[in-house]
Amino acid sequence: MSGRSLAYLAEIPVDRVKGVGDRLGGKLRDAGICSVTDLLFHFPRRHIDRSLVTSIAEVPLGREVTVVGTVSKVTARRVRGLSIVEVAVFDGTGYLWAVFFNQPFRERQLGEGTEVALSGKVERYRGRTQMKAPVADVLGRAAHRRTGRIVPVYPSVAGIASWRLEQFIANALRRSRPVQDPLPGDMVESLSLVDRDRALAGIHFPEDQEEADRARRRLVFDELFRLEVALALRKRRQVEEAEGISHVVDAELVGSFIESLAFPLTGAQRRAVEEIQADMAAPHPMHRLLQGEVGSGKTVVAMAALLTGVQGGYQGAVMAPTEVLAEQHYFGLEPLARLVGVRMALLTASSTDREEVIEGISGGTVDVAVGTHALIQEGIRFARLGVAVVDEQHRFGVYQRVQLREKAEGPRPDLLIMTATPIPRTLSMTLYGDLDVSVLDEMPAGCPRVETELISPEPLSLESAYSRVREEAAQGRQSFVVCPLVEDSEKLEAASATAEYERLERVFPGLRLGLVHGQLPADEKRATMQRFRDGDIDVLVATTVIEVGIDIPNATVMIILDAHRFGISQLHQLRGRLSRGVGPNWCYLVGDPSTDEGRERLSAVASTDDGFRLAEEDLRIRGQGTVFGVRQAGLPDLRLADILADFEVLTGARREAFALVAADPLLDSHPKIAEETRALLGDQAEWLFIS
Ligand code: ADP
Ligand code: MG
Repeated sequence: MSGRSLAYLAEIPVDRVKGVGDRLGGKLRDAGICSVTDLLFHFPRRHIDRSLVTSIAEVPLGREVTVVGTVSKVTARRVRGLSIVEVAVFDGTGYLWAVFFNQPFRERQLGEGTEVALSGKVERYRGRTQMKAPVADVLGRAAHRRTGRIVPVYPSVAGIASWRLEQFIANALRRSRPVQDPLPGDMVESLSLVDRDRALAGIHFPEDQEEADRARRRLVFDELFRLEVALALRKRRQVEEAEGISHVVDAELVGSFIESLAFPLTGAQRRAVEEIQADMAAPHPMHRLLQGEVGSGKTVVAMAALLTGVQGGYQGAVMAPTEVLAEQHYFGLEPLARLVGVRMALLTASSTDREEVIEGISGGTVDVAVGTHALIQEGIRFARLGVAVVDEQHRFGVYQRVQLREKAEGPRPDLLIMTATPIPRTLSMTLYGDLDVSVLDEMPAGCPRVETELISPEPLSLESAYSRVREEAAQGRQSFVVCPLVEDSEKLEAASATAEYERLERVFPGLRLGLVHGQLPADEKRATMQRFRDGDIDVLVATTVIEVGIDIPNATVMIILDAHRFGISQLHQLRGRLSRGVGPNWCYLVGDPSTDEGRERLSAVASTDDGFRLAEEDLRIRGQGTVFGVRQAGLPDLRLADILADFEVLTGARREAFALVAADPLLDSHPKIAEETRALLGDQAEWLFIS
């Protein structure tokens, strides 16, 4: 079927829709609704099915219900500074009072004669039937009322009522239909989707809830499909079409390295090494994400990738987000490199042998260079860079990846990105959707678990944690005390850490305490960390500066104060510091959460060690927009899709999109899909098109 495409409708200004005009057009544009397509994409928040609405005369007490009626009276008053608006609604069978606290705007919004839907719990109060703080949606003025059984309720746009939006959308739809369907008919059919035209009409003005659900499913698919097509195209350009290096993978170096290890690789490590080597042997650049929790053994896998490059005469680079981490990688990798005679160098801002190292890198006498991300950005020339390992720890660095590739001339080096953040599959299919993924989901044997306990900040409960610290210290083990996060103020954070340190000196007479926080000079911090590492400190009081990859195998206890102020992934990362060495380990989350969300977060962390499950949980509790700062990293806004709830649709959209691009890399036979992807995704997800 032909018809008008969304790309075409995206070019028609919203002001041209019947009834909108200049003034309201301005308000719509302020809300980001600029074109006819934007207006059609202003989806209802929900639908009210009048046939399922409860009549006020028969309304059950104490249950969540929706009633629809006309406002017959409004009163507003103030009681000790609190604004109270009371609205009487009549539905032909009886009266119901809606009571709103501190929402003075309700007085004007719900004027007499307004038709309104109220949802909430009904109670009896002084002989009245009432709802306290209900969800209230204005359906219209009696005079404008649509008579349809199903009424869409729209997210508010400042200054425009839901029923006006409904009129505009009805007008826009009437003029736009039939709306063109860019998807091949057989795809639509095999996925049991409704066509685009029916979906757009059906999500706004369905006959019944079932039609609304089917319409939504189609539009969710479309949204995810556009994203996945963009990711597939991007991957195609960066990987399949780019010139890379065909590394030799069957030379001896990697094999003798693995044999020289004191332990056999885990199954997951072996799989990851195989996947990496297959990528590296291929003529296209590798573009792979290595995901594995703290302690899962990423270092060995990274080393295997680096040596795969080195054995064919190429150089490797390892980049970390901070100097401390770069050093740590160096100290972790160097002994492994030495096992097989590979020359490795550390380059940081504070290296004393900088010149020499830079010369070694450009002259080719350094096989593997380790540094911060500046290693690549500062214009240091590699003689023959063949493989780069980027440690993202738990940040997402889409942009850094871009820069790395721009640096290399000629064939692109293979790229392995490591992250300790367990990324739920939902996110790795979207945010990281252009990467191949290897997962280390198997901990090396003997990796100690962490016993996590939730305790309240009362003296008695704290004492149980303190006695654990003393017992462990008596056996030569060490402890961390992590001090509360103070948002936006390192000064306050430092002050509270210092106060805690002084308090703990009295709690632990006879133990050796140390203090690190962000306000200390770098060399003092370093010296304290070194003393802790050397075992000269029993209890380290620290702010979250220790979060980033500090390894103290001998530490067995961690007390996290005000734990409810940390996010799930941060708590899990902190606790992960313990699973590095000997066990058993104990982590005490000291918290007094005042919100349900806070309680949920803490009990999630206490209940499982499984980072992937925690990540999913985090996503569920916090919502997809905020997880791991995804927003900043540039995941395009999803209006309709909820990647958790719509996981099955996401999987289908991804499969179809990648198959389509594989068969038709330039989308020559699918010009409508190409046009729509660009028109609807282009500026929202600019990074998708950076290559
Ligand atoms: P990650 O970088 O993923 O946090 P590491 O690579 O530092 O983890 O490994 C953690 C510890 O486990 C190191 O001491 C390492 O030597 C050890 N290790 C790695 N792989 C294995 C294995 N297959 N069997 C036993 N120990 C291992
Ligand atoms: Mg390759």
